[in-house]
Amino acid sequence: MRLKSIELSGFKSFAKKTELKFDSAITAIVGPNGSGKSNIAESFRFVLGEQSMKSMRGRRGEDMIWNGSSVAPRAGRASVRLVLDNADRALSLDFDEVAFERTVARDGINEYRLNGSPVRLRDIAEHLAHANIGASGHHIISQGEADRILSASSRDRREMIEDALGLTAFLYKREDAEKKLEKAAENIREVEALRRELSPHLKFLTGQIKKIEEGEALRARLAEAYAEYFTREQAYLTAEGKRLAGESEAPAAEGRELEHRIARLKAELGKKGRGDAASHELVRLEKESTAAREKRESLTRDIGRLEGELAARERLSRAASARSIPAHEAASFAEELAKALEGALELDLQALRELLRSLAHRAREFAARVAHTAESPEKDSARDLAARKESLERELAEARAAEERAASSIAELRRSIESEKDANRDTERELFAAMGRRGELEALLSALSSRRELLAREEALFKEMVGEAAALLGREALQYETHTARNEKGEALADADLAKEARAEQDERRRKIERMKIKFEETGESNAGEIIKEHRETVERDEFLARELADLAASAESLRSLIADLTKTLEERFVKGIDTITKQFDAFFKMMFGGGEAKLSVVKERTRRATAMPEDEETPEEEAAEEYEEGIEISVSLPHKRVKGLHMLSGGERALTSIALIFAMSQVNPPPSLILDETDAALDEANSRRYGDMIETLAKKSQLILITHNRETMSRAGTLYGVTMGTGGVSRLLSVQFEEALAVAK
Ligand code: ATP
Repeated sequence: MRLKSIELSGFKSFAKKTELKFDSAITAIVGPNGSGKSNIAESFRFVLGEQSMKSMRGRRGEDMIWNGSSVAPRAGRASVRLVLDNADRALSLDFDEVAFERTVARDGINEYRLNGSPVRLRDIAEHLAHANIGASGHHIISQGEADRILSASSRDRREMIEDALGLTAFLYKREDAEKKLEKAAENIREVEALRRELSPHLKFLTGQIKKIEEGEALRARLAEAYAEYFTREQAYLTAEGKRLAGESEAPAAEGRELEHRIARLKAELGKKGRGDAASHELVRLEKESTAAREKRESLTRDIGRLEGELAARERLSRAASARSIPAHEAASFAEELAKALEGALELDLQALRELLRSLAHRAREFAARVAHTAESPEKDSARDLAARKESLERELAEARAAEERAASSIAELRRSIESEKDANRDTERELFAAMGRRGELEALLSALSSRRELLAREEALFKEMVGEAAALLGREALQYETHTARNEKGEALADADLAKEARAEQDERRRKIERMKIKFEETGESNAGEIIKEHRETVERDEFLARELADLAASAESLRSLIADLTKTLEERFVKGIDTITKQFDAFFKMMFGGGEAKLSVVKERTRRATAMPEDEETPEEEAAEEYEEGIEISVSLPHKRVKGLHMLSGGERALTSIALIFAMSQVNPPPSLILDETDAALDEANSRRYGDMIETLAKKSQLILITHNRETMSRAGTLYGVTMGTGGVSRLLSVQFEEALAVAK
């Protein structure tokens, strides 16, 4: 890469557009004091992005702009355009020619352009670093600043040397990586914070999911328990129904038969109406018999009376003869009376009455006879009486016959009634037996009926439970019919086996189901779907964050290793560079002073440099490395003098030492250009020659732009520019020959 030209417009004292072409390896700019030479060196700093106004001898950006004078009005903006030949692609830009341009305006605008396109300062700096034109400006040595490198702090010196060694590009890269690492660390912290934030919610949701899963498991167990219960219950109900139907068949049939029998027996016994007729008949016969007996008794009495009358007539007729009642007759009457009275003791009341009536009658008859015997004879004829007696006796015989007939009819009827009664008693016994059996059957049927009622209740309960299960578990609860009940060994059971089981087992199952149901209802999560969705989303988010974290960690890791690599490269190059510079420095020093010794040494200095490393990942060694940073110390010893240390050097000696170091640095990694503003001012003639020799050496590797008053230096230049300042403070540039240059310089 080569400098082609620089163009200043409105920059400081260059009020008019002024272009310098750099056609030679060495260009010298000469001119009297205050003509504006240094402004040219500054224009290089300016266009290359120098930020420090101080190093460009100004307080503000505005100080860079032509201030105006009687000959030219002040400019609104200052701009510098540097054109580089990039045919060798030293700048990583695909252009043969690259123009950097910087403009500042009074309103504060500060622009950078690269081949006309606006760019950031950072872009310019990177490109320049790539081409080994660093920002530290080691390649631009301002007037009086030759020994800047000597007076700089060892850390700043290190920076200059790093710049000279072309390490700036690596440093930029490292800085870049460190920034990225810092960003990654920040992102890691952010993502970790997000995950931490998410964690309690995720935990909560995981808990919910566990509950839901438990609920699902419980639901499955409940469904299984229901299926088992229903299958068995169904089998039981069917079997029990059949059994009850079977058991009631025979008793029902028997009951029906019994009913018929009982009806028949009752009908048979119902014929007892005939018995009533018989008893009426009996009553009638008894009345008949009584009437016949009474008639007989009355007839007997009448006959007795007639006989008594007849006998009395005889006695009367005899008395008529005797006119008295014989004693024996009276005695017989008394005897008859006594006998009758004695016999009365045995008689019932009725007979007694009859007897008393007849005795009274007999007594009155006896009295009448006594009277008759005494007073008049009987007028009735005996024959009439006898005839009446005969008729009465016939009647009596008839009455007797009637009485006998009635008695025999009664006896006959009584016998018939008795035999009928015997026949009824058998029927009744049979009826009672049948009714007793019917009672038994009724009890049996009633027991069966209450069993059926129980079964109906069980069926109702079963249906209720099925409904309940369906409400709780949905349709699947109704699919128990496809379920196969199994015993403890897991063997499938037939319906017949199931019905044999004791009811207590089913009761126990039902109680178990009740308990499970309560538990299930407790765990029941109504919005399970939503929770599952939210959990899945949260897990996904957490996983995404975890991946993000892993990616970040991986990129942080690769950045760390990049940083470590860069650090190592920097370290190696630095150490090697320092070594080379030291050798060159020593050689130039010896050349300048005709002996002596100069060297650079690396020293550790405390640093407060911020770290991009996440603190918790730092190892103690790294910590130490962070705490200390290397700086560069310079030590010299002059020949034949006991001078050691920079502070003891004279101005000229310092100038020579710094030139030796600057040249040494340019040797290691030659910059494309080197601008030296009166670096040679303090040299005497002999040293000026040595300086001139060194310049020629340097010019083989770097393009030199020398601002000088030194004749020796001018003599080595291929191109000479003279700068003059006319009236109005405007710098003018002219291309001059050596002889003219000498004149201009004065
Ligand atoms: P010497 O040989 O003494 O070092 P020189 O040739 O290097 O002198 P410079 O220091 O480059 O001279 O020039 C400084 C001149 O530039 C001064 O005259 C100063 O007034 C002028 N100058 C600086 N800034 C501006 C500006 N903004 N506008 C106009 N003139 C300016």
